[in-house]
Amino acid sequence: PDVILEVEGIKKHFPVRQGSLISPETGWLKAVDGVDFTIAEGETLGLVGESGCGKSTTSKLVLLLEDLTDGTIRFRGKDVAQFTAEDSRAYRRAIQAVFQDPYSSLSPRLRVKDIVGEPVRVNTDMRGARLLDRVRKVLCDVGLSDPSVPFNYPHEFSGGQRQRIAIARALALEPSMIVLDEPVSALDVSIRAQIMNLLKDLQQENGVAYFLIAHDLAVVRHMSNRIGVMYLGKLVEIADSDELSLRPLHPYTQALYSAALPSHPDIHKEEIILTGEVPSPLNPPSGCPFRTRCIHAMPVCAEVTPRLTEAAPGHFVACHLQNSPA
Ligand code: SF4
Ligand code: MG
Repeated sequence: PDVILEVEGIKKHFPVRQGSLISPETGWLKAVDGVDFTIAEGETLGLVGESGCGKSTTSKLVLLLEDLTDGTIRFRGKDVAQFTAEDSRAYRRAIQAVFQDPYSSLSPRLRVKDIVGEPVRVNTDMRGARLLDRVRKVLCDVGLSDPSVPFNYPHEFSGGQRQRIAIARALALEPSMIVLDEPVSALDVSIRAQIMNLLKDLQQENGVAYFLIAHDLAVVRHMSNRIGVMYLGKLVEIADSDELSLRPLHPYTQALYSAALPSHPDIHKEEIILTGEVPSPLNPPSGCPFRTRCIHAMPVCAEVTPRLTEAAPGHFVACHLQNSPA
């Protein structure tokens, strides 16, 4: 399948505020610090990691809501930094987003038909009855087929229904990709599976690609074809979802998976449990960012930052255990 998005070495460093002073001299918060991945037509790439690891900033960079400090994002082969106004419009049509909180992401003063119809109105010449038909069609697709739905306001719906409305809005322009930033974490546990299954069904039907950001490994595993694991602004491992479950290579990934699994007699959980706090991204460890929590840390880990290297076909990991320096 064609690659929609190629992300190469992207960085986002924020200048740190000291009192009222913000300048490069006060230091940098390296929220995203050299991340590479691709997303192909029709697939789901999940990005998992603890809060503050840079995954939301990565999604904002992909949505062009933040400027890159460094690195390149290419959309269908074209560098976004070279975009014409026309390219930018095409990108904003092709890449849509659904955010965590369906309570704050839907304007409370607008009816559902205006919320869902807005991107269509802005980007096409569809108006009136044709626009309302389009809105009804996508609302039906997300399971909201009651004829009154377009005329109601967001507060008249439950959290799960609101997230369906947000998904309908994202689908209305038939995008190539939707960025899903914690799409179910604000919802009741009882309806998370419904929304995840809806997203998967929609993908089956229309071939949309997803870039899924979540802190919950169970959500990412349920949804994704490939999974990237982020830690302190860096991608530490990326592989097919099944491969990563069977053979997590990075000690951090191993810890995440062991924490998410029910206890199993064959797995010595106590050996791979996460200990210690996540270091501050303002003052990350030298060398490997995970070394302060890693039970396998060696002297080289404090000296040299491991690079993401291919350990098996399509399976990349950044750890000196896999790529011992000569
Ligand atoms: Fe642990 Fe060293 Fe691998 Fe980092 S590079 S994960 S500290 S073994
Ligand atoms: Mg976040």
